[in-house]
Amino acid sequence: PSLEEMLRSSIRNIPDYPKPGVMFRDITTLLGNARAFRRAIDELVHPYAGSKIDKIAGIEARGFILGGAIAHQLSSGFVPIRKKGKLPHDTVRIAYSLEYGLDEMEMHKDAIEPGEKVILVDDLIATGGTAEAAAKLLRQMGADIVAACFVIDLPELGGRQKLEALGVPVRTLIEFE
Ligand code: IMP
Repeated sequence: PSLEEMLRSSIRNIPDYPKPGVMFRDITTLLGNARAFRRAIDELVHPYAGSKIDKIAGIEARGFILGGAIAHQLSSGFVPIRKKGKLPHDTVRIAYSLEYGLDEMEMHKDAIEPGEKVILVDDLIATGGTAEAAAKLLRQMGADIVAACFVIDLPELGGRQKLEALGVPVRTLIEFE
């Protein structure tokens, strides 16, 4: 099958989750499919193969799984971006808005050296609010953000444009309405 077919058929669609009217795109079934998982990772990283990427920054929690695999493939380090209160050492923190209310995410303050080349990773970009906050946090630490990578784009929600407006190139593999 084509990459598109393999990804589309390995992602599970869950209606009315986490609330009525929302179609949740569940990548646990993609992760559980050995061939689909490998192809998704290979496809996400191939533009960066051979360039020196210092760190992969993964957004909690599915960005950890994809980001860990990408870090291994590119021989890069891995940096977790977490919900507030989870990291044990000194952190830098940023607030961002969710559909209802505010949340905060943080990174260890010594996780990135100024000028390091970083790729940001999550499973899905919707409004782009989460990834935009993560990109701002990385920039605050002096990161050179080479790209933001996602398996899934929900293009109607405009997340890609939000990141591109910050000058962050966006790479995604599959779109859903
Ligand atoms: P955004 O901030 O609106 O772009 O939402 C993206 C964040 O919400 C990411 O961390 C995603 O993992 C999560 N998310 C939103 N919708 C879905 C979905 O349908 N499937 C999986 N994750 C989702």
